[in-house]
Order: sequence, then structure tokens, then C-alpha cells
Amino acid sequence: MSDFPPPIIDTHAHLDDAAFDGDRPDVLERARQAGVQRVLNIAYRPEIWEQSVRLRQAHPDVELAAGIHPQDAAIFNAKHADALAEQLLALSPLAVGEAGFDFARPGPTLQEQRVAFQWQIQLAIAAGLPLVIHQRDAAEQLTNELDRWPELRAIVLHSFDGDVRLAAWALDRGCYAGIGGLACRKSSHMLREALQILPVEKLILETDAPYLAPPGAASRRNEPANLPLVADTLAPLWNLTPEDLCRLTTANAMSIFRFPPDGVGSMREACA
Ligand SMILES: [Zn+2]
Repeated sequence: MSDFPPPIIDTHAHLDDAAFDGDRPDVLERARQAGVQRVLNIAYRPEIWEQSVRLRQAHPDVELAAGIHPQDAAIFNAKHADALAEQLLALSPLAVGEAGFDFARPGPTLQEQRVAFQWQIQLAIAAGLPLVIHQRDAAEQLTNELDRWPELRAIVLHSFDGDVRLAAWALDRGCYAGIGGLACRKSSHMLREALQILPVEKLILETDAPYLAPPGAASRRNEPANLPLVADTLAPLWNLTPEDLCRLTTANAMSIFRFPPDGVGSMREACA
């Protein structure tokens, strides 16, 4: 076994969240020490798009996805859809999202969520970008909608949360599933059973930091440095070593999101 940690990509984090205002550089440094080579920061509503861009400017290992979370769908105004699309693509995101449906909490109506979701689906198709999906208590609405859009290049079911039926649909559709702290919880045995339907070629690691800290983490505030703990917990489900799960999911993430090779990110910022 090598002395170096295997390469890891955190494909879903919110490091621009105020929870990290006190020690953001330390959090990123701990991530690097743990082998986390890239972080995809998810800028989930227009008011925070710019703070995510600033995070990327400050840290060459951070890239971003941009979109409108289903719980924020009511802010979407179809009248300004074209201007907003232009604004979003100007950020050079690696993906659109997180987008989808969330009926686990009170929030925007089905129709409001659908309009904002369809706008992001069409944007992802037009730009050839992957679409990062947020789904809670909405598997049927989600699959019904996505079945109408076969042109999507890549669909990522972030922090996959569903049953065997949703996993079978995802397998059939060729979706990717983000796995992290949620699947590590002791109570998540049904979720783990569903996930095992998916081959490792369809898996990527994610924290959803600052949320969903895995059991055994030092703090309830999740951070990318916890991903080796996630890999330790989940690798046996696919009969893999944690190292192999990290390596394979990193290769998946590199190809889905087309992360720029080392150094390109910082050069782009220097030229901007
Ligand atoms: Zn998220």
C-alpha cells in the first residue's frame, strides 16, 4: 500500500457557506492532506453564484456548478430566463444544478419547481453540461420529468436518496449517483441496498458539506476531509478496498465533469 492517500474528488460541497467563514483555508488544506484533489462547489441560487466564483478564484482546486435549488424555485422568473441563462454560463460552470424536486419540506409548488427544473434541463442540454439533481420525496415526479429529456449528456443524482425502484431506473437511464454521509448512517440500510444495484462505474463521492457528516466524523459540520471515512464505510458494498473506491470514483468524476487538468483553473483566473 502506498504512503500517499488515493486521489479523491468531492463532487458536491458548499464551501462558500457561512459555516466555513472562520476557517475556510484550513478546511481546504485538510482536504488536500486527505487526498481530495478537486472540489465541485455547488452554487445553488443566483444570489450566491458570485461568492462561489470568488471561492474558485482563491483556490485552484475548486470548480463550480451553478443553478437553482428546487427549494428556491419560486425566485425563478421565466421572463428573465434568457438573461439568467447567459449570466449562469458566463460563470464557466462544470455542471448545471443542483436542480430537481423537493417535497420533503414545505416550499415552492410542484409547478414552480417544474418550471425552474425544465429551464435548467434545457440549459444543460444546450450547453452540453452534466445536470446535478437534488431529489427528496419526489422520485416519481423526477423520473417522469427526466424521461422526457433523453438528450441530457449526464445526470448525477446527488446524495442518492431512494429505493430499489429508483436505483433500477437510474441504472437503466445511465445516471450517476453521489454517495456520502447519508449512505453511511446506520439507519440507511435500505438506501445501501438500493445503491448496490449500481455498478462502481456509476458512483462518485461527495460530502454535501457542511451537511450530512458521516458517522465517526470529528464534527457535525461536514467537510471534504471526511471522504476517506466515507470510502472506508462504503467500499465493502462493492467488494472494493477504500483506495480502489477512491480511485475509480475519481476517474468517473473527472470524465463526467471534465475537470480542467492541473493548473488550468488558476491560469483561467489569472487571464480573467
Ligand atoms: Zn447540495
